[in-house]
Amino acid sequence: MDHIRNFSIIAHIDHGKSTLADRFLQLCEALTDREMSAQVLDSMDLERERGITIKAQSVSIKYKADDGQEYQFNIIDTPGHVDFNYEVSRSLYACEGALLVVDAAQGVEAQTVANCLTAIEQNLEVLPVINKIDLPAADPERVKQEIEEIVGIDASEALCVSAKTGQGVHEILEQIVKYIPAPKGDPAGPLKALIIDSWFDNYLGVVSLVKIVDGELFAGRKMRVMSTAHDYMVSEVGLFTPKRLKVDVLRTGQVGYVVAGIKEIDGAPVGDTLTQSDRPATERVPGFKQIKPRVFAGLFPVDASDYEDLREALAKLRLNDSALHYEPETSQALGFGFRCGFLGMLHMEIVQERLEREYGLNLITTAPTVIYEVLTSKGETLQVDNPSRLPPLDQIEIIYEPIIHADILVPQEHLGNVITLCMEKRGVQKSMQYLGNQVAISFELPMSEVVVDFFDRLKSATRGYASFDYNFVRNQASNLVKLDVLINGDRVDALSIIVHKDKAQIHGRALAEKMKEVIPRQMYDVAIQATIGSHVIARETVKALRKNVTAKCYGGDITRKRKLLEKQKEGKRRMKQFGTVEIPQAAFMAILDVG
Ligand code: GDP
Ligand code: MG
Repeated sequence: MDHIRNFSIIAHIDHGKSTLADRFLQLCEALTDREMSAQVLDSMDLERERGITIKAQSVSIKYKADDGQEYQFNIIDTPGHVDFNYEVSRSLYACEGALLVVDAAQGVEAQTVANCLTAIEQNLEVLPVINKIDLPAADPERVKQEIEEIVGIDASEALCVSAKTGQGVHEILEQIVKYIPAPKGDPAGPLKALIIDSWFDNYLGVVSLVKIVDGELFAGRKMRVMSTAHDYMVSEVGLFTPKRLKVDVLRTGQVGYVVAGIKEIDGAPVGDTLTQSDRPATERVPGFKQIKPRVFAGLFPVDASDYEDLREALAKLRLNDSALHYEPETSQALGFGFRCGFLGMLHMEIVQERLEREYGLNLITTAPTVIYEVLTSKGETLQVDNPSRLPPLDQIEIIYEPIIHADILVPQEHLGNVITLCMEKRGVQKSMQYLGNQVAISFELPMSEVVVDFFDRLKSATRGYASFDYNFVRNQASNLVKLDVLINGDRVDALSIIVHKDKAQIHGRALAEKMKEVIPRQMYDVAIQATIGSHVIARETVKALRKNVTAKCYGGDITRKRKLLEKQKEGKRRMKQFGTVEIPQAAFMAILDVG
């Protein structure tokens, strides 16, 4: 136990966390050079494409230190995006320390601060590391000062390294041995293992990543899942090195995986405690905070017969993504589907992509919305996560919307753009502080304005230099109305949105225009109306087709014709029949373009 070090690497996206982790593996000869060719800590396709780390992963390596002793390092990877802060705190539960990696040229960014504060709150030893000192623009002294001023930890001993060239990486490993404490725990006590992550493997069933808090977890013995009191025979325990390495036992302080033939998808939920069946622990390890989703959208299969598959896929994803919520939803326009809750837009996009890519589902997603609190004239309070469920206007007393506190860190030259953007998004400035060349500015903003496109807008307004972090503060009364879309006179429930009254006119007009663009022409005119209550605020018409557009292909090149037909089929995949009109996916997301 004295020779175990469990730690995470905290870094803003692109500051070099994956490169550094790879360098550790190489120095510890955990992998051959050929195996090193791909970054191992980012394992899912999606992550590699998007260049971000979503799932917490762990790797165990052996390190022969300068003191001649061999140490076991368990590196728990953490994601860097603001949507996934909960994953960060989850992985930190398995650690006694953390490396704070900061880019020597970019300096400290808002998410680094947020993640680092989580580590400090959990009493971890935080070691600052300044990376990329090989870059000509590196300014380690400035960055040290930023770490001290913004994060508030001592950076005088911060190492200056290059994960790319390997310079200084050996010193990091030595600092880990010296400063990060060994795990504590009672090796003789009854087993307590905290489930940090669980996922479903088609061959093994549920696989869980656990931290052994007390006792030992043996293969071939019975274990109990404490929340359900179900017993299972442990068939395999082991470490990720990063390859799966079977061992006989996981001991106190270790982080490793366990397989116990659990077939039920929710058999070993994240945050739960495992114990031994013959000598069960009396109390669970305190779990992590339950995460509440903040952004909601409907997910509907294009093909109604995929409904059960969608349910099963959501259940599997939910197993290792406790922030994903879902419940059945029925829409007049879209049929049977699920109302899903996400942490933010990126989380939503990733879930949608995984459902399509890994489970082969073809889905229509409705526009994202936040949860509104509605006080009705009867004095009831409703939580509304679906605009089509908003009571009629005359039954609403007050609508409250969620407000967030946003911390933005931006170089001075882009400050003006940030303020303009926040004002446009109904923001109220709370504070501003100059820190060297950077400005830390905070705003209170309606969450609905933030979830839609704020992050992208902020990035383009600052040429990628601003960083941003937010948390919920309160619900606040606001002048909101529901905007409906009518197609040929019928309201399409899945197209309703809730907007601020001052923006309703502009939104309504833009939305109707956008609908006109995306709804394909039919054999007859299609009328599109945007309404508030019984008030029509915008009207557009998709004119009927005059002549057959494919006619020009007849008699022509056969492959060209086939291509055209395939293209049409492709377009159809994401259409939903509404009466006699086909509505494409783009229509449901139109609100994102007019926000
Ligand atoms: P992550 O998002 O924190 O995991 O960052 P990555 O490890 O993926 O690195 C982001 C980019 O920075 C990649 O293009 C790396 O090659 C590059 N990078 C990482 N470390 C260094 C370094 O020490 N020096 C230089 N010049 N580039 C680096
Ligand atoms: Mg990475």
